[in-house]
Amino acid sequence: MTKMRVRFAPSPTGALHIGGVRTALYDYLLAKKHGGTFVLRIEDTDQKRYVEGAEDYIINALKWCGLEPDEGPGIGGDFGPYRQSERKEIYQKYIQQLLDDGHAYYAFDTAEELDAMRDKVKAEGKHSFQYDASTRMLMRNSLSMSESSVKELLDNGVPFTIRFKMPEDQEVTVNDLIREEVIFQTNELDDKVLMKSGGLPTYHLANIVDDHLMEITHVIRGEEWLPSTGLHVMMYRCFGWEDSMPKFAHLPLILKPAPSTYVTKRTKEKFSESFAIEFMKTTELEMDYEDAKKVITQVFSNPKDIQSQLKIGKNDDGKKKAVKTFLKNAMYGKLSKRDGDRLGFPVFPLSWEGKTEIDSFVGFKEIGFDADAVNNFLVFLGWNPGTEQEMFSMKEMIDTFSLKRVGKSGAKFDYEKARWFNQQYLMNKDDRKIAEELMVLLSEKRLGLDLAFLEKVAAMMKERVHFIPEILESGYYLFEPVKSYDNKTILKRWKPENMEKMIILAETLKGIMSFDASIIESKVKQFMEEQELGFGEVLPILRLAVSGTTMGPSVFDIMALLGHEETNNRMTLSYKYFDELIAE
Ligand code: GLU
Repeated sequence: MTKMRVRFAPSPTGALHIGGVRTALYDYLLAKKHGGTFVLRIEDTDQKRYVEGAEDYIINALKWCGLEPDEGPGIGGDFGPYRQSERKEIYQKYIQQLLDDGHAYYAFDTAEELDAMRDKVKAEGKHSFQYDASTRMLMRNSLSMSESSVKELLDNGVPFTIRFKMPEDQEVTVNDLIREEVIFQTNELDDKVLMKSGGLPTYHLANIVDDHLMEITHVIRGEEWLPSTGLHVMMYRCFGWEDSMPKFAHLPLILKPAPSTYVTKRTKEKFSESFAIEFMKTTELEMDYEDAKKVITQVFSNPKDIQSQLKIGKNDDGKKKAVKTFLKNAMYGKLSKRDGDRLGFPVFPLSWEGKTEIDSFVGFKEIGFDADAVNNFLVFLGWNPGTEQEMFSMKEMIDTFSLKRVGKSGAKFDYEKARWFNQQYLMNKDDRKIAEELMVLLSEKRLGLDLAFLEKVAAMMKERVHFIPEILESGYYLFEPVKSYDNKTILKRWKPENMEKMIILAETLKGIMSFDASIIESKVKQFMEEQELGFGEVLPILRLAVSGTTMGPSVFDIMALLGHEETNNRMTLSYKYFDELIAE
């Protein structure tokens, strides 16, 4: 059996979107499961869309996710170069083969001529113009022109493209591993440009030639490529490579999150505003911001029922219809890179510094996601194991993954689920590792903390947050003096007449030899009994005194971590503050 070779073939046209990472993950899992090879190929022949830094971004993103290619640019391998811009001669050779065999032809039509043809067809009220078997003889190309005129044009250096001559009356069957049988009629397909006028191949040519030469056995890619696959199979046929053609698997779309996951009673006002602003930017209608917002507010009035509110009603006027149509497009369908910004979640693995602010994005990594959690989240966007298991280590994913269990219908992106996965990973993460990450985050603050201390912080806090950096926010009082107090609760709980007793408690705790959480706890309980005070009178006060809030880990753990002196200081200082607050 031939060894499985799966490639990931991104184009460096910007930061790699999370959908691209999912493709790479599936590529990787499939290759690893079968002891195959995971190949990275950079498809950079479209110079107009080339973006500086995008290739590095792709490589860094794969590295962060732990999806390191076995072959690729900068890694090497027997099938290089792995950057298409370095393979120009190869494509020349193969386009020549198609020309020689009559499967491709020179086309001299200028952009203006093509536009004129499009306009003419439109004016005649026919379908839009397609360069194909029915029209190619009306155009200026090596099929419609005499051999001598073609030669003359070529000799004079007149620019040309090379088009695929799509055979007529054939049926192409693609046996997609996910979609099963997809049939294309060649009469419906056009003569795609394979070589551009500058001598660079288009995606179609470079992709087919490279998959063949790199002995790729499996092509996994987004559903948007399915319509091109008829052409691709036909090209394999014309090259005489159909027998060794890779198997195709077209992944379902990643869809925008369900509106109910972000439009809630609490957020609907905010989203009415932001969608209204966006609508105003895109609409050509004469409409007031307030009127647009009113329609949106109405649609969002019951966040659980947005879809039916979006139905166009008989009495809706043109403006209302326009707003609803805009909302439909903005809230349903394929996840786009803009959705992250507008809905407040990441759609890129790593942050990306674009030329402008609107082109810059924060990544999963920078938000504080664990790469394993991101992989675990992504593997479920299209695949399911057929069991209830949700947590998968990379090894388990490799063992369990199969294209057979990838669905056809779109997978909704659910950011809350991504956060949930991260929380699960954090809870299971080694305290020492969390401590090391905290140390890096804290290094700028120069607090002189040691790892042993941070390990205790990690143990106390990891179940209470979704991300490591959150530990530093919600548990800041473990590192620094209390900055702000929950005054409302203090006013409710603090009884000035208990001041004396609370000072006795502070003194008692100061005297404990080994300042350990369980000993502190028993001393506090003993104190409450002796002083005949209830839990509600003491514990919230202690918590507020040492942390400023009533939430967070056990108050005894906090005290033990802070130590004798700090606990005592905070208690006495806070009591004073509580008294002052009540007196105001
Ligand atoms: N370069 C194409 C892309 O970025 C690859 C599509 C494919 O995998 O064939 O989407």
